[in-house]
Amino acid sequence: MNLKTSTIAVLIATVLFSCNQGTKTETAVSQKTEESKQVVSHVMTKEQQQKLTADEVLQDFKDGNNRFQTGTKTIRDHSEMVRKAAPGQYPKAVILSCLDARVPVEDVFDQGIGDIFVGRVAGNFINEDLLGSMEFGCKVAGAKLILVMGHKDCGAIKGAIDDVKLGNITAMLAKIKPAVKMSQDFKGEKSTKNADFVEIVAENNVKYSLQQIREKSPILKEMEDKNEIKIIGAFYNLTNGNIEFIK
Ligand SMILES: [Zn+2]
Repeated sequence: MNLKTSTIAVLIATVLFSCNQGTKTETAVSQKTEESKQVVSHVMTKEQQQKLTADEVLQDFKDGNNRFQTGTKTIRDHSEMVRKAAPGQYPKAVILSCLDARVPVEDVFDQGIGDIFVGRVAGNFINEDLLGSMEFGCKVAGAKLILVMGHKDCGAIKGAIDDVKLGNITAMLAKIKPAVKMSQDFKGEKSTKNADFVEIVAENNVKYSLQQIREKSPILKEMEDKNEIKIIGAFYNLTNGNIEFIK
């Protein structure tokens, strides 16, 4: 090895050594940060699901929504959760939400992978497919709570009020029309220019969906009557992230 070669070898060794030290330091910092943030990687087990009551799930959702609003959501290791959840799912609830991109369902309740079934359709109405999905979620897969969640400033609700006609949207909005009819006692302007009216129709639409579940699914109605599940409504406020629960 001549002088030039040995100098290069020393330089390479120095660079490698310092890189290694850097990696070790970064790993230590990363572990310390993760410890202080309490990263969660737990997924629901069958035993935990079976022990849960609908009231406990509801309280869990209320607490989760509070964390969502205050910016203190749980920090999760999603990669680890994906691996742990792969063998089976034991969700706590079935949530039917609107399609609206401003309603991130898992986030607003601070739930993770495997925690909830989510069905979405513009206007969060009930049809045969969603009822079948709810029956699967509760009767087959063991979920304890059905939550139908509407929201403020809903475009689908506005479309139904305005009687919009366009392609397949026409048939879709027909499913929301009963809620517009339910709201005819409203005192004041009954149009989409009136935000209060839009909100009343959206709330009635949630109530109508709850009614439809009980009328059209003897399986879910029986589970509710036997206190095996709870069926309730929720209303999401787009401006502050708050959720009100509707019975
Ligand atoms: Zn909507």
